[in-house]
Amino acid sequence: MKLANLRSLILLSILAPAMLHAEIRSAGRHEHGSTMLGIAVEGQSLVIELDGPAANFTGFERKPANEAEKQELARVLNVLRDGAALFALPPEAQCRLQSTAVSPPDYGDDGHADLEAFWEFRCGSPVALTWVEARIFTAFPGTARLTTSVVTAGGQKSVVLTSGTSRVLMPQ
Ligand SMILES: [Zn+2]
Repeated sequence: MKLANLRSLILLSILAPAMLHAEIRSAGRHEHGSTMLGIAVEGQSLVIELDGPAANFTGFERKPANEAEKQELARVLNVLRDGAALFALPPEAQCRLQSTAVSPPDYGDDGHADLEAFWEFRCGSPVALTWVEARIFTAFPGTARLTTSVVTAGGQKSVVLTSGTSRVLMPQ
């Protein structure tokens, strides 16, 4: 499966049944404190996608109003780019971060904005990838819950991760 297909598969699993971003907003899925996480394994590729209210990360959802807020936004985007620090993986799976994409919030007129990030890891021994641990809660205390969807060749599942239960077991 091509990566693009894999991405849409994750997005679908995250977003279903509300398929479109706009629908999610109008359906009230933009919930402060809650962030969506999609995890998919295909061959040696592990892709993780995150989508949540910008407030969960920066504490505000409007254009930075001063230098301190500008710096805070830049800091947050930098932390998100470092996917290797945001996710703990079994060392024996030998996963290496290959690429990262972080979209800065698109500040609209309604006082809300989402932040999106995407990471791809390449794993030397994907069979050993039995769990994924999110360190998002430590990095971003504004995120209380990660509504997580996982898709692997072994199956799929949905779980809500919190700071107390931040590790998801992968379907085998
Ligand atoms: Zn909001």
